[in-house]
Amino acid sequence: MKILVLNCGSASVKWGLYADGKSVDGGLIERVTDCAQAVREVIFSADVSDLDGIGHRVVHGGLRFSTPTLIDDEVLEAVTRLVPLAPLHNPVNLEGIKIAREMLPGVPQVAVFDTAFHRTIPPAQAMYAIDVEVAQENGIARYGFHGTSHEYVSRRTAELLGRDPAEVNVITLHLGNGASACAVRGGRSVATSMGLSPLEGLVMGSRSGNIDPAVVFHLHRVAGMSFEAIDDLLNQRSGLKGLCGDNDMREVLRRRDEGDAAAELAFDVYCERVKMYVGGYYALLGRVDAITFTAGVGENAAPVRAASLSDLGALGIVVDAARNGSAARGERLISPDGAFPAVCVVPTDEELEIANQTAELLAR
Ligand code: AMP
Repeated sequence: MKILVLNCGSASVKWGLYADGKSVDGGLIERVTDCAQAVREVIFSADVSDLDGIGHRVVHGGLRFSTPTLIDDEVLEAVTRLVPLAPLHNPVNLEGIKIAREMLPGVPQVAVFDTAFHRTIPPAQAMYAIDVEVAQENGIARYGFHGTSHEYVSRRTAELLGRDPAEVNVITLHLGNGASACAVRGGRSVATSMGLSPLEGLVMGSRSGNIDPAVVFHLHRVAGMSFEAIDDLLNQRSGLKGLCGDNDMREVLRRRDEGDAAAELAFDVYCERVKMYVGGYYALLGRVDAITFTAGVGENAAPVRAASLSDLGALGIVVDAARNGSAARGERLISPDGAFPAVCVVPTDEELEIANQTAELLAR
């Protein structure tokens, strides 16, 4: 099966071409201002002859979409109705789909949703403790994101350990530009740190993650900030960037090494938040077979991995300093042999997972 994957983000378009589950071509177009134009470029430049299907990453699938879905006009309308829940993401995803359908009208197109993997989260985790009628009327719930990554990484972790994914409990830590934690029980998501939007949970490059919601009222009422300005503050000027001025963990680590106090504090706030989710999900799962780091920071930043899991020996969580600090790449164990839970690094590959899920649906 030959599958093209399109992942249209707010500022970049990632794409990949797969033949029978193997990557044969791909690329990343950055600083994209016109997603439609970027998708046109991909389709003009890639070898799109004899495509069996196109897999599109779609960020928000709401309550409805729990599996990869063949795209037709009705599905497009449903994704359009979800735009208010993902105003930055679903519109660009839709744009990519529309261009691909126009340019390659005979090719089946499949939507793979970032929220889908989390549709198994039970109500006790998915519900916010607010008036249920208000919540229901407005679709207020914890949806979660990065689902394709958490699904792929948790399954690969089980395979790395030589175990059946259905029997393994994993805490996956997707630490990239956006960051989220997920508790996976037997291959199913049972809790995740992002919520209604990708703003909740961990500290991120420029997003705050968890804060007291009263901060918003205070900034509006007392500081006179508009909701748009507060939205911008929490999404664009917070997280690592807010704390120390740099949103890139590489820069934070470099400055911290030089003794920069602001960078050190940003690092500490970031890692302590990760640790709190690890502890919480450990309690929730009861038994944890593995903790896995992935994405730009998780795959590359050994100091973040070490600090996030420091002093957890009483829970059995130990990071081997030599393994963690080694220049090794790829899927690997960073805890001592035989440690329980295992601590792993598994590079994520959302495009491959989208290709495989697309092929699987089309083969039915
Ligand atoms: P992602 O969203 O997975 O592409 O992750 C991007 C982020 O990963 C960047 O903003 C960096 O903060 C971080 N990153 C990438 N490479 C490294 C590295 N070698 N060390 C630390 N952080 C890194």
